[in-house]
Amino acid sequence: AQWEKEVRRSSTPRRANGFSVLVTGAGGFVGTHCSLALKKRGDGVLGLDNFNTYYDPSLKRARQKMLKQHEIFIVEGDLNDGELLAKLFDIVPFTHILHLAAQAGVRYAMENPQSYVSSNIAGFVNLLEVAKNADPQPAIVWASSSSVYGLNTENPFSESHRTDQPASLYAATKKAGEEIAHTYNHIYGLSITGLRFFTVYGPWGRPDMAYFFFTKDILQGKAINIYQTHDNKEVARDFTFIDDIVKGCLGAVDTAEKSTGKGGKKRGPAQLRVYNLGNTSPVTVGKLVSILESLLNVKAKKHVIKMPRNGDVPYTHANVSLAYNDFGYKPTTDLSTGLRKFVKWYVSYYGIQSRVKGSNPSA
Ligand code: NAD
Repeated sequence: AQWEKEVRRSSTPRRANGFSVLVTGAGGFVGTHCSLALKKRGDGVLGLDNFNTYYDPSLKRARQKMLKQHEIFIVEGDLNDGELLAKLFDIVPFTHILHLAAQAGVRYAMENPQSYVSSNIAGFVNLLEVAKNADPQPAIVWASSSSVYGLNTENPFSESHRTDQPASLYAATKKAGEEIAHTYNHIYGLSITGLRFFTVYGPWGRPDMAYFFFTKDILQGKAINIYQTHDNKEVARDFTFIDDIVKGCLGAVDTAEKSTGKGGKKRGPAQLRVYNLGNTSPVTVGKLVSILESLLNVKAKKHVIKMPRNGDVPYTHANVSLAYNDFGYKPTTDLSTGLRKFVKWYVSYYGIQSRVKGSNPSA
């Protein structure tokens, strides 16, 4: 009963015509930021997360604690628990699902391939099954990934470009998610928007991502590995700051049409969309490291490896004109500015007495 009360309270909007949004992966990096932004503008937010141990669970708990301070409740459970999901939809008439829970990262597939299938395919289908049976049916906005472009070398990537050469199991499961979205939209009239995020970074970020563990290793004086492409070129990424991604997610939520119901029985076909959310300005990993060196005021020990890392693609670059046209998406944070914010958070979160200017907690 107390649990049900928390569920209701957290998901009740505080503005007129506000949304009730189920945010899956709310204990994760992007989920935490999106939950806060939705709540701040008066929408109701209920989180769902299984708090798995893919990376440091204490970081997920710290995010949960912060969300709790903003009266956002996270239900602990798995996407594959259909009974739990159905119960949540019995209690709350969610207007939207912002589906961000997934097995992220490309390397972990070498260790645990089934976790990608379980969360990104089976878990997604399970969520769509519950959404399709819900009354009202929620509109769905979910995280796909720039990794679906795989070995494609067109530049920059547009949504119409081919996505049939995934370079990792992660990418293959995200691509599968896009096909699954098509079928649920087609058969059950679900409104579904897929967002292809490009390398998201920022405060409260993921410890398994390069900018994060580079920061850690550089501060500890450990050597960092810099991988190259097959033809000895530098790897580059369209690093995108979390605040820009949050704006894109909210823009997609705000322009999501209602689901139309089974067989499109209400009025015509339901909405099905896919958008790139990137920064439109790729930066090499070498440049990333040099920005970190100057922010941290420490010289990195670099170990250059003349081959690609397993599962990595050489280059990503987003064309975001579709998202700009449809909901005004316009990234505004360059890598130096965004990394400065990340480093500031990092040293304060880990209580590091560093040489970083202006971020020494005791200074
Ligand atoms: P994250 O790992 O920090 O967040 C995902 C959260 O989902 C985690 O807290 C995890 O515990 C939870 N989760 C995983 N499987 C679950 C399951 N079966 N049931 C319930 N909860 C589960 O990752 P993130 O960086 O916040 O990514 C959010 C989404 O964006 C993911 O779908 C990811 O694939 C996608 N994405 C992220 C990036 C990026 O650079 N961060 C890039 C492209 C796409």
